[in-house]
Amino acid sequence: MVIKIIHEREICIGCGACAMVCPKHWVMNSDGKADLKKGDDKNKMAHIGGNDDVYELELNDKDIDNNDEAEKSCPVLCIHVKKE
Ligand code: SF4
Repeated sequence: MVIKIIHEREICIGCGACAMVCPKHWVMNSDGKADLKKGDDKNKMAHIGGNDDVYELELNDKDIDNNDEAEKSCPVLCIHVKKE
């Protein structure tokens, strides 16, 4: 099964919960928001204006690590774990 992790970075408030529970895949950036490690920028052009700052990472289900916990711990619900 393929797992897709999606980060709506634009609405991240930088609480640090994701990096705390799943440091393998999440790290805090010096701009105060979280980064999805190795996540692909899905909207390179769109977010030049500051909108649609969305990153995606595909994983095999065995590599999901604590991303379910990261999704549950995010207070603004900007992390999505989709199982396809
Ligand atoms: S848990 Fe959500 S709001 Fe907090 S740093 Fe991570 S992505 Fe941002």
